[in-house]
Amino acid sequence: MTQNHTSTPGQIKFPGISLPIFPNQGTREREGVAITVRLKGSVGGVEVRSDPAAGGRVAFSDGRNVFKPLYLAGEVEGLSGRRYGPRDNGGDSWATTRTIEKLLASPYPFNDISSQHVTQTSAGGSILIHKGHSDGQQIDMRYADGQGGYSEALGGANNGEYIKQLIYAAASEVKNNVTLKPKLKALQDWILKNRTILAFEARHQKTRIIYIGDSFIEEALVNGKFPSASAAGSVDIPGWGAWTDMPGKVRPDPDHRHHWHLSFSDENV
Ligand SMILES: [Zn+2]
Repeated sequence: MTQNHTSTPGQIKFPGISLPIFPNQGTREREGVAITVRLKGSVGGVEVRSDPAAGGRVAFSDGRNVFKPLYLAGEVEGLSGRRYGPRDNGGDSWATTRTIEKLLASPYPFNDISSQHVTQTSAGGSILIHKGHSDGQQIDMRYADGQGGYSEALGGANNGEYIKQLIYAAASEVKNNVTLKPKLKALQDWILKNRTILAFEARHQKTRIIYIGDSFIEEALVNGKFPSASAAGSVDIPGWGAWTDMPGKVRPDPDHRHHWHLSFSDENV
């Protein structure tokens, strides 16, 4: 891996050392991985080797000597076809084993989880623009389309533009009081399905927080109202009022009109 020499007692440094790539990543560690090293060399011309059990366990800069490994969820069988959005250099679906298990048990299309080589800031966020993602336990996912699936348009593509169009079209149907209101029906189904999945995910004890979109997403999902700029104005969406029992873990936030964000933690359990 790497070599160095010293002629004085004390620390010996191995610059540029990195972990080898381990084959067979089909075996995913859930709890944690420790790294132990064995030094081999010579002292005074005599071959020596250290005992890993006698202080050979590597400590990391945060003081811990066990870490939770991350795996590329996008390459896991059964998940590779479930991603939306563009890919980032170095991979952007680094996930803990439990995150992968969660995704395998869920129907949602997903995008970013964590990037490779992501570093925490002192404030606890990551150095990325998408600053919440850093430990393989935050997932961006498409909304339900309200038609039994998670198709792109009503899932949030184009910054939620198709969802917005549906809301405004439904408002026109209500304003004009047309006999058939297919857009209103589609919007009602969209709200019902998304409130249902968000409540379901928020109820889980491992869920830390869920972010949804602000603006028209918040108006429809949380307030149950048409936007004030719509044809109907700021009135209740027929069939739905405000989401009165919305879980406290669900929070509207900018930059989430094209996806909802699930953040969970193993440590809370
Ligand atoms: Zn996110």
